[in-house]
Amino acid sequence: MSVQRYAVVGGGIIGAAVARRLLEVRPDVQVTLVEKEDRLAAHQTGRNSGVVHAGLYYQPGSLKATLCRRGVGLLKDFCAEKGLPYDEVGKVLVALDAEEQRRLDDIADRARVNGVPGVRVIDRDELHALEPHVTGIAGLHSPTTAIVDYVGITEQLAADAQARGATVRTGFPVTGLEHTGGAADGEVVVRGASGEEVVADRVVLCAGLQVDRLAVLAGDGDAPRIVPFRGEYYKLAPERRTLVNGLVYPVPDPRYPFLGVHLTPRFDGEVLIGPNAVLALAREGYRRRDVSARDLAEIVRYAGFRRFAAEHWRTGIGEMRGSLSKHAFVAAARRYVPELRTADVVPAAAGIRAQALEADGSLVDDFRITRTGSVVAVRNAPSPAATSSLAIAEHLVDLLLPAAA
Ligand SMILES: Cc1cc2nc3c(=O)[nH]c(=O)nc-3n(C[C@H](O)[C@H](O)[C@H](O)COP(=O)(O)OP(=O)(O)OC[C@H]3O[C@@H](n4cnc5c(N)ncnc54)[C@H](O)[C@@H]3O)c2cc1C
Repeated sequence: MSVQRYAVVGGGIIGAAVARRLLEVRPDVQVTLVEKEDRLAAHQTGRNSGVVHAGLYYQPGSLKATLCRRGVGLLKDFCAEKGLPYDEVGKVLVALDAEEQRRLDDIADRARVNGVPGVRVIDRDELHALEPHVTGIAGLHSPTTAIVDYVGITEQLAADAQARGATVRTGFPVTGLEHTGGAADGEVVVRGASGEEVVADRVVLCAGLQVDRLAVLAGDGDAPRIVPFRGEYYKLAPERRTLVNGLVYPVPDPRYPFLGVHLTPRFDGEVLIGPNAVLALAREGYRRRDVSARDLAEIVRYAGFRRFAAEHWRTGIGEMRGSLSKHAFVAAARRYVPELRTADVVPAAAGIRAQALEADGSLVDDFRITRTGSVVAVRNAPSPAATSSLAIAEHLVDLLLPAAA
């Protein structure tokens, strides 16, 4: 029997984890990882908050809930094995009023159902002992929430895959996916922009902000489409980094759980404030002034986006205000850390979330993986997908291998 050939498109943390996992389970297969940039982890993976989420909020039984919990354990072991930073600095959700305090109990219950260890509602005194510069009437403490270096992890995952025989090709932007012989589950030619190609029996699309376009090229459905949301950050001036010890988050609004500026120490000592969530006018446009005519036209033409915008424009304007004014951004964080002054922060690099949106305008909440014949696509992998990456890779390879064997 001939050797099975796999092509993995996208060298973020998920692509690197999938390449490694394929060869861990089946050392006899051939794996090629292709990445359009000249380095790995150039997009979401290299531009995020660096948090290993413990799994507090996710809907019990969802892929997010199960793969996040499994992913935490796998990531912790991987970092220990490779000598990479993994620091359990812990996280507090801070309640500012009685209504938020009531929500803490529900989150604690959900966290327990999800199997998150050590989560506790704490009173004002305990909050003060943990975070002396933070104000609030109560909190929820998650002692195992950690911070890591996702770029370093991705490079190590790819190095492991290469050590097991994988080929990693950077500077390979995939522009074509052709099923040869017409059979949807047959061989696929993965073509690059300059005519380079990789021929594979199975293709895994882990292309983040571009994944919907590639999935459609491979014959998958048009929806859900990716809508890019920029997350902007500031960072604390070095002399103000002692304002927080661990991660300080607001109590999430159940309608917009991913909103709410927070303070996040990083593995390299910096402390980030953010991110907000504003519509990006280019999928990979990290500056406010970046606009891609193609990306923008696609967003505006998409009925799903128009429905989404009609429902959520008020929240969008609030986020835009924070985006345009440093003062408004810092004021949001000052509700939690009253000593914080506008002069204490400087702008930091932004990230862009690849958020899938259904045609009816609803956000795809859970991770979504689809299969069209020989091509598997990760069509929605927002936070906590970096945390969950090793478990997503396990899950995906389990889906792929029985049919491929
Ligand atoms: C602001 C922000 C904060 C976040 N914070 C956290 C956090 O603290 N914890 C957490 O767990 N998650 C967090 N996330 C989510 C996390 O970063 C992502 O879920 C994760 O990085 C997704 O990994 P990925 O490999 O799917 O995507 P990416 O890292 O985006 O990788 C996709 C890769 O595909 C490549 N690619 C695209 N098109 C092509 C093509 N045509 N040909 C070849 N290559 C292609 C891209 O260049 C890119 O390298 C955050 C995300 C953002 C944006």
